[in-house]
Amino acid sequence: MVGIAPTEAQDYFPNGGENMIIAIASGKGGTGKTTVAANLAVSLKDKMPVALLDCDVEEPNAHLFLMPEFTERESVTLPVPSIDSDKCTHCGICTRICAYHALADLGKKILVFEELCHGCGGCSLLCPAGAITEIHKEIGLVERGTAKGIEFVQGTLSIGSVLAPPVIKKVKSRIKSGPAVIIDSPPGTSCPMINAVSGADYCVLVTEPTPFGLSDLQLAVGVVRELGISFGVVINRAGMGDGEVEKYLQEQNIPLLMKIPFDRRYAACCARGGLLVEEFPELRQSFNNLWKAIERRVEA
Ligand code: SF4
Ligand code: SF4
Repeated sequence: MVGIAPTEAQDYFPNGGENMIIAIASGKGGTGKTTVAANLAVSLKDKMPVALLDCDVEEPNAHLFLMPEFTERESVTLPVPSIDSDKCTHCGICTRICAYHALADLGKKILVFEELCHGCGGCSLLCPAGAITEIHKEIGLVERGTAKGIEFVQGTLSIGSVLAPPVIKKVKSRIKSGPAVIIDSPPGTSCPMINAVSGADYCVLVTEPTPFGLSDLQLAVGVVRELGISFGVVINRAGMGDGEVEKYLQEQNIPLLMKIPFDRRYAACCARGGLLVEEFPELRQSFNNLWKAIERRVEA
């Protein structure tokens, strides 16, 4: 289930872990994960330098809340093989060693399925005929700038590319400020989410108090436990469903960090890209309390 070990954190965070890194995740989309990430960042910005990293690279949308100005743009590329048919002896080494089945020998030429290639470099390294060179294929874009005084970095996967992890890794490597770093993770519990939350000091799982919310929360809990990351839960739209999520949290001894009440005014604010902490002062204090609760748990 888990594709990356938490010990790889240093790969992602070149500053040696000086920041407090908080990942905001959810078992599924549409639970309010980005709402929590953006509002938490804005509620903190007057107290300390904050960076918000949008690692939901398939559909980044934190920019809709924060309207950043980007000052840096960088392509994320992958080295994929290009094969010189005149040099190739059809020895079969490259097609055998490619773990991703990205190469096929058609007799006269080796076909490269670029969308399957993970850019490991194994085939070019092992080709005895020197027939393979690498070309750089763009798989995504990383943009960096500021939004409301917050350092903002987002990654966007290129259309047709499925390789989210290298783009996420690049976004995470671009952190410059701190001490608070908030990561908006991709929804779900697969490879992109695991790459986004890996190395975080704490993970906030956002859920809804419904049977679907509970089911997806349980999957997300399994992943963060497997990764060994401390975590707690925010219930969004509290009051709209049943009490099963809270019962589960009590049974599992999982901290309930915050409840955002179900309120049509809040829903309307989020739908038009507004920030709850700017429009509803009562929630500013709640988000401040959420940060304090996270800090206590990270320092414990
Ligand atoms: S390893 Fe090199 S020589 Fe062998 S089949 Fe692949 S491209 Fe051709
Ligand atoms: S670079 Fe790695 S993943 Fe890509 S084709 Fe070569 S062996 Fe396969």
